[in-house]
Amino acid sequence: MPAFPIEEIYSLNSADDITHRSGYEYPVSTKKSNFVRILAVYSLNKSSINCGVSDCLEEHQKGYLVLTPNEQETCLCQACGKRFFAADFDEQQNDFVEQNRIRKQKSRLNNLLEQTGNIKEKIDFIKKQPHGANWLYKSLTHFKQAYPSELIRALKTLAANNEENRVLATLIESEADSSNIEAVRQLQGLSIFISDIREELIGKILMPLVELEKIAASPDETPSLARFGKLTDHWQSQLEKAEILVREGQAFFHIDNIARLKSIPLSKENSRKVKSLHWNCDKGDIK
Ligand SMILES: [Zn+2]
Repeated sequence: MPAFPIEEIYSLNSADDITHRSGYEYPVSTKKSNFVRILAVYSLNKSSINCGVSDCLEEHQKGYLVLTPNEQETCLCQACGKRFFAADFDEQQNDFVEQNRIRKQKSRLNNLLEQTGNIKEKIDFIKKQPHGANWLYKSLTHFKQAYPSELIRALKTLAANNEENRVLATLIESEADSSNIEAVRQLQGLSIFISDIREELIGKILMPLVELEKIAASPDETPSLARFGKLTDHWQSQLEKAEILVREGQAFFHIDNIARLKSIPLSKENSRKVKSLHWNCDKGDIK
């Protein structure tokens, strides 16, 4: 399973956090080759620590955790950071904060990657279950082909604002039969006309997930991972949204609900057409 390699996420808030690290070495003799690379930057609040360079040992609060030969570590005060690495504290701190942020982000993405099999199974189930997402997509496509576009527009209007609504207003103004007004008010599942099941399920979950897997499989490339933030935080609610949309579709294409469409005010010709059509829910098409 692909995963992003992650270097350590450092959390150095006290002198103990540094001196208790397993490879901590103190002091280290003053020789440039004894300080290999800056691993982390710290800014201690309540405690202070001594510089690990044997000719300095300066007590300080802001400094650098550095790698020494043989994978050991020690700490450097700001002056020694400048001496051995020409390091500027503010710059190093900004870099370090950014590195830690990216490492945390990768860690969250790795958690998500561990669940991809599970998520894909759920998507597959939502798609293929009887009267599931595949059925909804097919039904809606056929519905839009078979029924007059005037009706589709009216349904979109009804879906967009269920309260003060042009379709209902027309009915009321025309002093329509109160049973017609009631039927239109009772229409179910209209959100399928404003949310696209394919976009909600495939476009917003499966496609970014597959893309993430691809990127994690070739971690040498380092594209921005920010766009996956939404996926890590919201994939569960996004799956729920798709499930709700499928249930909305089931409610819309229910035989009793399709019967209510006859109450929507349309031109005479379109009204006649709507009344003449017979919808087959299981087939997802007109009979
Ligand atoms: Zn020092």
